[in-house]
Amino acid sequence: MPDAPEPRIMISALEHYAYCPRQCALIHVEQSYEENVYTLRGTRDHHRVDDPETELRDDVRVERALPLYSEALGLTGRADVVEFDDGVPYPIEYKHGEQRRHAPGRIQLCAQALCLEEMTGRDVPAGALYHTSSHRRQEVTVTETLRADTRDVIEAVRAQLREQTVPPPVNDDRCPPCSLQRVCMPDAVDTPERRHRETDRLFTVED
Ligand code: SF4
Repeated sequence: MPDAPEPRIMISALEHYAYCPRQCALIHVEQSYEENVYTLRGTRDHHRVDDPETELRDDVRVERALPLYSEALGLTGRADVVEFDDGVPYPIEYKHGEQRRHAPGRIQLCAQALCLEEMTGRDVPAGALYHTSSHRRQEVTVTETLRADTRDVIEAVRAQLREQTVPPPVNDDRCPPCSLQRVCMPDAVDTPERRHRETDRLFTVED
């Protein structure tokens, strides 16, 4: 029997994985999701870009809630905003909260750029993260390094979905703002005893 086709990966899953591989698995493997103050703020801040809309602003076409896909990479998703200046796409992803927490957003933005390149046939050299609290854009250059990092994350998410694996908790400063703390229970799962067991298992040589 032929292998089942690989499911398309949500672009948002890449951000989840880049933030914490367990968070990605809890959402996309176990279908767990919980709201907290951060996700509710994010939903509120996204309201302006939730409805598809086209606008012409100083000869720049602005598309909101634009559907995205990549056949080559097996991705699907949506861009908050894409500006087309002289036909060149410039994706903008809305983010709430502190700027330092948005490194995974660069992976998400790069994936959007890769989709737009495939969809339009144009190079996408840059995009931006728009910070809703400061109303500032942080430009992100779509470098070769960022492209390679993004492709690595795509492959890691694909493997996680294929193998249905849920990694152990990171149990670090990513956990307090994470909406999945209650289902993840990073303190309960990531105990010193568990770590010792894992270490023993890793270094046990089987005949
Ligand atoms: S609580 Fe921590 S370990 Fe659990 S999913 Fe969130 S960030 Fe990852």
